[in-house]
Amino acid sequence: MGDLRQLVRTIPDYPKPGILFRDVTTLMGDAKGFKAAVEGMAAPYLNDNIDAVAGIEARGFILGGAVADRLSCGFIPIRKKGKLPWKTIGQQYSLEYGVDIIEIHADAIKPGERILIVDDLIATGGTAEAAAKLISRTGGLVAGPAFLVDLPDLGGLDLLRSHGIRTHALLAFE
Ligand code: 5GP
Repeated sequence: MGDLRQLVRTIPDYPKPGILFRDVTTLMGDAKGFKAAVEGMAAPYLNDNIDAVAGIEARGFILGGAVADRLSCGFIPIRKKGKLPWKTIGQQYSLEYGVDIIEIHADAIKPGERILIVDDLIATGGTAEAAAKLISRTGGLVAGPAFLVDLPDLGGLDLLRSHGIRTHALLAFE
């Protein structure tokens, strides 16, 4: 995965001083890199009877749509509050300063369906944890998450494992 790592651009002090932002748009803009990323994220789940990918706004839509195609399953959007047009279920989660809410259509998942969460990056795990709670509240089963990038120092995968969720990230940036 060395080549793939090199396709991720690192931007110091974005969105604020002291933060090293991992910009995956450079990887997604590279034909071979994008294909390798999607294949690598989907690989552990090829024989896992996934019913749908739940992609988290916004970069999770780009990767999640392609992973869903690879797994021949459906795609469900998880969006920031107020963006989905039908009846929704919302889940609050903590940010560094304050809280945010993500939502899913209340009828997007049928009870017992196996759902794969997809996002570009996991940091503290708060967003993915909230997505997992949403899926459970609709009656779905979290088959796992697939992330392109993990920031292990922030402990997100450990947080998901503490809920008994199997985890998978393709690249890590210490
Ligand atoms: P968490 O909730 O795990 O702390 O943060 C993960 C969410 O924030 C993901 O939806 C991800 O897109 C976004 N995010 C946080 N830091 C970065 C970063 O350095 N690069 C990118 N591409 N996304 C980030």
